[in-house]
Amino acid sequence: MKRSNNTVGVIGSGLAGLSSAVVLSARGYDVDVYEGSSWLGGKAAVLAEEGFRFDMGPTILTIPSVLRRIFAEAGEDMDDHLDLRRLDPQWRSFFEDGTTLDLYEDLGAMLKEINEFTSDTRVAKGYERLLALSERLNTISEDYYFWRSVGTMGELLGGSGRSLPGLVRDVMSIKPWQSVGGQIRKMVRDPRVSQMLDHFTQYVGSAPDASPAVLCGVAHMQVGEGVWYPIGGTRAVPEALVKLGRSLGVRYHTDTPVRQIVQDREGRASGIVTAGGERIELGAVVSNMDSVRTHRELLSDREVRKAFDKRTDDEPACSGVVLYLGLKERYEHLAHHDFVFSRDPHEEFDSIYNKGEPAPDPTVYLCAPASTEPDVAPEGGEALYALVHTPYLRPHHDWKTMLPEYREVIIQKLERTAGLTDLRERIVFERALTPQDIHERYRVLNGAIYGLSSHGLLTGAIKPANRSPDVPGLYLAGGAAHPGPGMPMVMMSGWIAADCVDQDEVVKRSGDAAKGAA
Ligand SMILES: Cc1cc2nc3c(=O)[nH]c(=O)nc-3n(C[C@H](O)[C@H](O)[C@H](O)COP(=O)(O)OP(=O)(O)OC[C@H]3O[C@@H](n4cnc5c(N)ncnc54)[C@H](O)[C@@H]3O)c2cc1C
Repeated sequence: MKRSNNTVGVIGSGLAGLSSAVVLSARGYDVDVYEGSSWLGGKAAVLAEEGFRFDMGPTILTIPSVLRRIFAEAGEDMDDHLDLRRLDPQWRSFFEDGTTLDLYEDLGAMLKEINEFTSDTRVAKGYERLLALSERLNTISEDYYFWRSVGTMGELLGGSGRSLPGLVRDVMSIKPWQSVGGQIRKMVRDPRVSQMLDHFTQYVGSAPDASPAVLCGVAHMQVGEGVWYPIGGTRAVPEALVKLGRSLGVRYHTDTPVRQIVQDREGRASGIVTAGGERIELGAVVSNMDSVRTHRELLSDREVRKAFDKRTDDEPACSGVVLYLGLKERYEHLAHHDFVFSRDPHEEFDSIYNKGEPAPDPTVYLCAPASTEPDVAPEGGEALYALVHTPYLRPHHDWKTMLPEYREVIIQKLERTAGLTDLRERIVFERALTPQDIHERYRVLNGAIYGLSSHGLLTGAIKPANRSPDVPGLYLAGGAAHPGPGMPMVMMSGWIAADCVDQDEVVKRSGDAAKGAA
């Protein structure tokens, strides 16, 4: 399997790695993907057993324009490869007091819903103001943050090309003194509506009170571009990317864990060594492995590791427990996506993010896709997915012993707050995923679902840059690299890493290489 120094090697086939491979190949580069597991797609995996089909990881697909851009790199229309269905309401919220609130993408419909829900017109006005702020924050993110490698405050501010007054105005707009939770509560003075809005930060697995207000921009991204379900499940996304990559000439190697990134005398990334001991020569390396673990486990140069550690806050984002429940009969009162909220968000987030213990009364996210795609379960049934965020793994957490008790907490919560009173009788199939499983299956940092935490009001959104400042020819892509976690962001991360390889001209395109050899 010896490759030439004009081949780009991608370590890991998460959505970021797959996106990088497609973009590089579409731009004419020779690409090999090395994946440690037996399947491609990383966390976007599938569980199909006994007539039920569950997406094991991500279920909420937002900002499809990112995926569209990746297909467009190859001259393809995403709609020819994926059948995406728009979901509205986007979520149904169940609260401890027995009330429910739907999140609609249309502003008028949402204001009406909030007015009926709270009978206080100030709450709907606050929501409208929050969305206007969110749109502004999203525009700022587009100008400063998205679609380019950023790893420091200097790179963030320097790349926009703004004059000093424009820069100051934009910095003030992102309210660097304010948290997501603080901003939401300042504008939306209803505890249930603000609890629902807090959950936009759960896309990055971080505490609303410790995450920078600029992340309120997520609200605009979601209501602006919608929430989508690919027929076939979110698993259809990595499958479509692999199919496209194959048609472009990408070679995928499963069951091939990488144990080392080789650096040449000048310190450039010049190859990899697989766990089987094979040494493979490469012109550039894109690592889709967790960025902290890439530095700790794959690079042997101490100075490089020290420089990375100095720049990086390595606090993992949260982990989670997922129950995959095959039901013989589906619940008609559930929407496709549902949040069953905790009795007290402060108690919940304090447990998960400060105390480092599972919340005593958690928020449960439910995915009930049978209403959109009945094939996920035997006729009339449901492939119910229940996700609860938990702390990242601590040394004393033993989920083999913790799971039975916590499963009971989750089931009781669903019976009480979501009206699933006969849930136990309807379950005919059950599997679970714990933080320990996530840690082992996906080779992440302390079981983190969403890479690195976004804590820190000033720098919480800054993640390790896609272009390594320490190792020429090494690029980072994935949830623990810029611009962060979640399906759209990691796919953008993969695009940026590929674009950096292309800009840096560290390898020749296959066509150029062939010419050079002639
Ligand atoms: C339960 C759960 C629910 C989620 N829900 C949502 C959601 O609804 N919406 C959303 O947008 N996001 C969601 N996410 C987050 C989303 O799934 C991730 O942000 C995203 O899929 C991560 O992609 P990635 O490219 O960073 O890599 P990963 O999916 O983490 O894949 C990395 C790959 O690299 C491989 N690898 C690592 N090290 C090596 C090595 N040394 N050699 C070879 N291979 C290696 C791993 O085996 C893995 O396949 C969820 C995640 C989980 C787990």
